Amino acid sequence: MIQSVTAVIRTAIRVEGIVQGVGFRPFVYTLATGLGLSGHVGNDTDGVFVEVEGAPAAVGEFLVLLERDAPPLARIERITTAPLPPSGSASFAIAASGSAGPRRTLVSADSATCADCLRELGDPADRRYRYPFINCTNCGPRFTIVRDVPYDRPLTTMAGFAMCQRCAAEYHDPADRRFHAQPTCCPACGPRLALLDQAGNALPAEPLAGAAALLAQGRVLAIKGLGGYHLAVDAGSETAAAALRARKHREDKPFAVLAADLAAARLLAEVDEAAAGLLTSASRPIVLLPRRRGTEVAEATAPGNRQLGIMLPYTPLHHLLIGALSRPMVLTSGNVSDEPIAYDDTDALARLGTIADAFLTHDRAIHIRTDDSVARVFRARPMLIRRSRGYVPEPVPVEHEFPRPVLACGAELKNTFCLAKERHAFVSHHIGDLENAETLRSFTEGIEHFRRLFDLDPQVVAYDLHPEYLSTKYALDLDGVELCGVQHHHAHIASCLADNRADGPVIGVAFDGTGYGTDGTIWGGEFLIADLATFERGGHLAPVPMPGGAAAVRQPWRMAAAYLDAAFSGAPPDGLSVVRRNEARWAAVVAMATRGINSPVTSSAGRLFDAVAALLGVRDVINYEGQAAVELEQLADTGEAGSYQARVGDQTPFGISGCDLVRAAAEDTAAGIPREIVAARFHHGVAALIEDGCLLLRERHGLGTVALSGGVFQNLLLLHDAVARLEARGFRVLVHSRIPCNDGGISLGQAVIAGARDRLR
Ligand SMILES: [Zn+2]
Ligand SMILES: [Zn+2]
Repeated sequence: MIQSVTAVIRTAIRVEGIVQGVGFRPFVYTLATGLGLSGHVGNDTDGVFVEVEGAPAAVGEFLVLLERDAPPLARIERITTAPLPPSGSASFAIAASGSAGPRRTLVSADSATCADCLRELGDPADRRYRYPFINCTNCGPRFTIVRDVPYDRPLTTMAGFAMCQRCAAEYHDPADRRFHAQPTCCPACGPRLALLDQAGNALPAEPLAGAAALLAQGRVLAIKGLGGYHLAVDAGSETAAAALRARKHREDKPFAVLAADLAAARLLAEVDEAAAGLLTSASRPIVLLPRRRGTEVAEATAPGNRQLGIMLPYTPLHHLLIGALSRPMVLTSGNVSDEPIAYDDTDALARLGTIADAFLTHDRAIHIRTDDSVARVFRARPMLIRRSRGYVPEPVPVEHEFPRPVLACGAELKNTFCLAKERHAFVSHHIGDLENAETLRSFTEGIEHFRRLFDLDPQVVAYDLHPEYLSTKYALDLDGVELCGVQHHHAHIASCLADNRADGPVIGVAFDGTGYGTDGTIWGGEFLIADLATFERGGHLAPVPMPGGAAAVRQPWRMAAAYLDAAFSGAPPDGLSVVRRNEARWAAVVAMATRGINSPVTSSAGRLFDAVAALLGVRDVINYEGQAAVELEQLADTGEAGSYQARVGDQTPFGISGCDLVRAAAEDTAAGIPREIVAARFHHGVAALIEDGCLLLRERHGLGTVALSGGVFQNLLLLHDAVARLEARGFRVLVHSRIPCNDGGISLGQAVIAGARDRLR
């Protein structure tokens, strides 16, 4: 009898996506050797390359499991295979990284401490017991420590820490869970904590115990985190929270709270399943949740707020510190009011020395400043409000290939930029408001860093039409690129389309504070007929004057004056408290508005919310962008179903009378209706006018899909109502999830518009 000879095949495999620094090679090694395959695996500038040799069935199974069982932080985008002649290899090897050639691999985001590392952190027998920098291939710092690609230790801020023998042995052992974990370290060889006083001198206490003791005494502590410094206080201490607020010059904006775990978070806020998923995800954003009353969180943490921003520990240091304090702590960005957060040690001492009583710091450098991400939950789906640490720089996949590489410069406030090529859009971390030199430097340096990381040389540069935006000026200063101006609200709608992987055309409802219109006026309550390449204005809120221009943004009572004057033809009802409170300047401001002196007109929905907030006594003057609208949402009685009605004109584009809502709100207020009820009726009135505008545009254009974008839709009361009304009318409604609806999403919208126009060339 002739014994059958099993055929042997050899297959070359290429894996693209986020496959470096996530334990992919040891995973491949274990998988291949387990199936009795020989060959090799390695990293190169395109991702991971593999060759396997063995029985066809084993090779087939290898290919299935390669995709199915990939490591948790891996993001496989494409696997390609090609047959090779068998080479008779006998074993499986891991090849060294190559660094030549173009860079195409992706860098992963920073990731919260994994369960395996947490177990070791709490195990007295483990050599990393209570070591604040424990990490492995499945967790730890990534984007914030990467200086360049390929992602290997010498190109990270861990380069200066030479591995001890035991760490090096783990690092080189393919069977170890720290095999090629670039930031791996231990107490013998890795970064160390230090507790410093305000002048930067070491304090005598053991750093962790000393820091916890200071917090327990009600002191303010600066803590070096993953993407920058935080400021921390005991969240239960009214005096500590108030002191932090005063020293930070942050009057009202809520602080986020770090809770030890999900159970601790549930004591502070209502955490549904979707929120729990977000809180415990490897990205660990701050999640804004319905606050429970009567908890141990001090009122000064989030004054007058129904929401509480909660996050769970995402570094071993957080776990150890909150464990030692054993109650929730405020963890807010390490800055003074609107400045960027500090991330450089010297700078942190200089800038935070007047705020913090002590510094809990360490000697691992942060290469790039990255703020905490912020999310809400809408209909059991995450809704990112700030997409930064834990998400960036993972690309947003898009439907269509970019013909040429694109840089999109974003907006002025909440700036992000976006670099895009092929099927990837790399939306940057949160840069901030481009209104000071340091933020502008973060913007320009960030663009250079992304260009290097993703080997991307932009040929098309998209920018906002606002001539005074610093991001616009930056774009217009570039040489040798093709420029692509994008209207602000078109960018909002395009970012919503990209977020939903849709092309349009749609009815785009873009409601926000301010955006430069194609007619040179300030837009912000827009109904667009839009696809990715083009748009036309289908309707808008009827323009009103903004008495004093920028002053009217800071002082919502001025918008109340302008709206009330227009709504009542100069004779608003007697006894309105907003008139009384601002009596001294009321007549002069109304005169400015009616005569059009220093009063640009706007169709902004944000200003309409401001007017009603001031009318109801919520806020005459704001301390941060959007504050009046945020507080108006908090005020509204969620049980009230009544609504005001705004007239829709029959012009093209149509105008909708925001004055009608203000008039109704003022009449109810004058009649003594509680302001919680008025606030709710106003919200429902805005949702109703969105419904009416979309119905009219469906009649005119035959479109059945609506995209909702712009910062106003961070308001969940409005969003829930608008979506419900539109769905009841048979519309398909697109809302944001992965990308913020606010100006943080503008750069992605600009990028996909530039790509779409490039495809039409
Ligand atoms: Zn780990
Ligand atoms: Zn070590």
